[in-house]
Amino acid sequence: MSDFSPPSFFGHGSPMNAIEFNDFTDRWRSYGASLPAPKAILSISAHWFINATAVTVMDSPRTIHDFYGFPKPLFDFEYRAPGSREIAELVIDAVEPTWVGQDEDQWGLDHGTWSVLTHIFPAADVPVIQLSIDATKDIGYHYELGRKLASLAHQGVMIFGSGNIVHNLRSMDWSNPSGGFDWAVDFDMRSRDAILAKPSSVVDLVDNDNFSLASPTPDHFLPFVYFAGVADELGMDVTNVVEGCSFGSISMASYALLG
Ligand code: ZN
Repeated sequence: MSDFSPPSFFGHGSPMNAIEFNDFTDRWRSYGASLPAPKAILSISAHWFINATAVTVMDSPRTIHDFYGFPKPLFDFEYRAPGSREIAELVIDAVEPTWVGQDEDQWGLDHGTWSVLTHIFPAADVPVIQLSIDATKDIGYHYELGRKLASLAHQGVMIFGSGNIVHNLRSMDWSNPSGGFDWAVDFDMRSRDAILAKPSSVVDLVDNDNFSLASPTPDHFLPFVYFAGVADELGMDVTNVVEGCSFGSISMASYALLG
């Protein structure tokens, strides 16, 4: 065990956040600049949502451009962080007896991972591996997995949940780039109260009246559940790095655990 536990982090960006600089990316940058480099980063991204729990084990994960209709510079964007089989094995051990598939060539780093990490660790010199989210499992499974993954923090691994607490693409209001609908702000604030006061209560947010509007599909919410599991297990203070909604129905909230 090292005596340095890197902070865990939760946040998410659209592909455009990788090449645009704005208030959110400024905050991620100054947060990243304040951190000692972790040994590695384990990213749990909303965009790797499959029917299994799997981990990337490739030495040089490819930059995945998992979107359509964005400007060409985004398709040329590369985040060339190395992978790490050693860290993947730590993940597999940490969650036993849960089975974890080893992905040698299917995935890599998707934009949930690189749109944020390119600001937090712009040099791309810290190894990054991704863990998929098993779409067939209930919220309790993901929360418990998060709790088990917390042990990686003691081995120098930063756990990064990449998702949005409110993510309703159908309801987006393009005339409101820096605000949220009442229901979105309310759900965002309740989530904030939960993660700051009692991370284990994050799993109860699924019973909130606005949950189905905030999270019509669970992919973007579940990384927050992993983050909550890590936070609860480590018992560290959680801080709000970015707050606020965009375009009515997207929460940009980012949180960090202070190591
Ligand atoms: Zn996304």
